Amino acid sequence: MGCLPGFCSLSRRVKFLLFIGICVIFLTWISSLGSLGEIRDATQLVKELSLTRKVQHMGLFRANNVQSVEPLAVTTAVPLQSCPLQSPYLRGPIALSFRPSLTLHDVETENPEVSNGIYQPKECCPLQSVAILIPHRNREKHLLYLLQNLHPFLQRQQLHYGIYVIHQAGHVTFNRAKLLNVGYLEALKDFAWDCFIFHDVDLVPENDYNLYQCDRQPKHLVVGRNATGYRLRYKGYFGGVTAMTREQFLKVNGFSNTYWGWGAEDDDLRIRVELQRMKIVRPPPEVARYTMIFHTRDKGNEVNKDRMRLLNRTPRVWKTDGLNSCSYKKLYVEKQQLYVNVTVDIGRPSLWHN
Ligand code: UDP
Ligand code: BGC
Ligand code: MN
Repeated sequence: MGCLPGFCSLSRRVKFLLFIGICVIFLTWISSLGSLGEIRDATQLVKELSLTRKVQHMGLFRANNVQSVEPLAVTTAVPLQSCPLQSPYLRGPIALSFRPSLTLHDVETENPEVSNGIYQPKECCPLQSVAILIPHRNREKHLLYLLQNLHPFLQRQQLHYGIYVIHQAGHVTFNRAKLLNVGYLEALKDFAWDCFIFHDVDLVPENDYNLYQCDRQPKHLVVGRNATGYRLRYKGYFGGVTAMTREQFLKVNGFSNTYWGWGAEDDDLRIRVELQRMKIVRPPPEVARYTMIFHTRDKGNEVNKDRMRLLNRTPRVWKTDGLNSCSYKKLYVEKQQLYVNVTVDIGRPSLWHN
């Protein structure tokens, strides 16, 4: 092997020192590259983290999601922080509006941030994803008033929510409870909602401190309404507007499907809740207030004379009469801007069931 001129004549000691020097220079150079790498890695990490956060954020809503759902449109800002326990937008008592000339177009224009019946706050990560289920037939004006008041109400509560109107097709006797079962089953095909609000179309909340979120126990939201002097109608009343988590509702096998016509389907649900040793909770009476839009008894929803007999058999039959036996024909699902319309044929009263 050749030798650089003059190098071979150096003493071993000098050669060794030179070697050490070169090593030190080399290591310093490598480590400077390393720290650059770290800086690059850190930038990458921040990017990746925010990406992960984004994925996690979406994952929060999509966890346990059922198969064949449409992707949730969360593409804009990435809320990193949870929404506060109490929204800063709450106002308390609200002046309700029931303008006779109101149109659906007016309400759509007032709610540009709602699409396909769904809203999601941009500024924070909502505490719950809530599906509002409204049983409906032939109450279009009531629905319009409810939508006009409910959308801003829910947005002020910083909720991720979707409104579903479950419309009973045809003229056979109305069945509120079965429609609500259908609403639960159909809404879960879209998304794994945490909480379900079963909502009469004619009850408009008067105070936005009445939170449309679920609790550890089933929650009854209507303590008082204008028509009854804002007092609870009776001790076990569980009608009008109620909130149950996905799990609580599943645990009681949902509503009974067998109450055709007016009355007692809500009492039946209360019995189911009590059989599971759950306890109904209510917000304070000063916030759990509603205005019921005046109406008379609907045609096709006459008082169910059989209701007391049905209530007596609830403890025996709840396990096989409910979500797990709810058969229906879905006629169409129409995603409008302000709500999802699910129109169904739920059949007719059957001697076998009643
Ligand atoms: N409902 C409806 N069309 C009908 C009958 C009932 O849409 O023909 C729905 C609507 O959501 C209504 C709920 O069922 O608010 C309960 O019926 P109703 O208002 O007659 O009961 P009540 O006023 O006695 O609570
Ligand atoms: C009926 C319920 C109804 C309540 C209040 C009860 O007698 O069984 O279905 O919600 O009265 O009107
Ligand atoms: Mn009513």
